[in-house]
Amino acid sequence: MVLKNTLLDYWHELHERNGYQEISTPVILNRSLWETSGHWDHYKENMYTTVIDDQDYAVKPMNCPGGVLVYQSEPRSYRDLPLRLGELGLVHRHEKSGQLHGLMRVRCFTQDDAHIFMTPEQIREEIKGVARLIDEVYSLFGFSYHVELSTRPEDSMGSDQDWEMATEALRGALDDLGLPYEVNEGDGAFYGPKIDFHLQDSIGRTWQCGTIQLDFQLPLRFGLEYIGADGEKHRPIMIHRVAFGSIERFIGILIEHFAGAFPTWLAPVQVRVLPISEKYQDYAGQVLGRLKEAGIRAEADGRSEKIGYKIREARLAKIPYMLVVGAKEEEQGLVSVRSRFAGDEGQQQLEEFLAEIKKEIAEKRIRETKTEE
Ligand SMILES: [Zn+2]
Repeated sequence: MVLKNTLLDYWHELHERNGYQEISTPVILNRSLWETSGHWDHYKENMYTTVIDDQDYAVKPMNCPGGVLVYQSEPRSYRDLPLRLGELGLVHRHEKSGQLHGLMRVRCFTQDDAHIFMTPEQIREEIKGVARLIDEVYSLFGFSYHVELSTRPEDSMGSDQDWEMATEALRGALDDLGLPYEVNEGDGAFYGPKIDFHLQDSIGRTWQCGTIQLDFQLPLRFGLEYIGADGEKHRPIMIHRVAFGSIERFIGILIEHFAGAFPTWLAPVQVRVLPISEKYQDYAGQVLGRLKEAGIRAEADGRSEKIGYKIREARLAKIPYMLVVGAKEEEQGLVSVRSRFAGDEGQQQLEEFLAEIKKEIAEKRIRETKTEE
């Protein structure tokens, strides 16, 4: 939960900065919506359904209809567009039990979804904006990734003209950004072309995480409109996109990627305070209190074990910082800093250490772990 909440805090900050509004839509929605969206006919096998007051409902496997309802909740004009609606949506999909796999494939997960409603002229810039945002996320964790563009499948809906315009917009956006990509001819969804982002984990496996999917069909099926500059009604185009993909899968990949040695900003425990003997329990308690007050995730190891043993355990637990405290530290308000990154970092004033670690966390810095004896 610490990892999840920390990632979601970052998600909120990132999306606010990129002009998204956050929405939250119900988990259970009426059958009629799923019929309109096409899921009832094409995806029902993977959906959990229920009957309430003699009516069919389904637990959402995707967040799209909810996003569409929010779009429809008031009249829209071209001035409202692009409208970027982000949703951390809890979705359920009935995967076969044999296909479930750790955190990588689960039946219930949180998608960092967003639906963008826009005019045809805005497609290219919006795609670029989303690709930049996804790049920022992956770069932050030091992931390498590759991009695939999937084009019109044989069995598809929509006019040749729409498909051509959409595919060119995706291609143009990738070219503008100088992002290399592979083309999967005929591998798009029946309702539009898409760009997929595949992350490589520490053992070389690739996982599809981010997607940018263009869609003309859902706006058509739900009869979405906006009033253009010409005073006439027009149909918006939609982007479905995720950056992390499934938060649970992303956490699985992060655990592998860092082999449990998370950067300080993500680490469930950021600092462990180690009194060298029971005599210094009180001072260790004061240090711990000050750390917590400053918003640092910290704990103290007050057991009457040898200090060498406590250090070894903290190191095995891959805790970024250990603060060793004894007589000299107590007298002078100091802490002896040992880190996973540099080993012995010497004595510092507690306030000096706090200022440093707060800066490292705020910058989401990744320090290289030192391989020790
Ligand atoms: Zn969607």
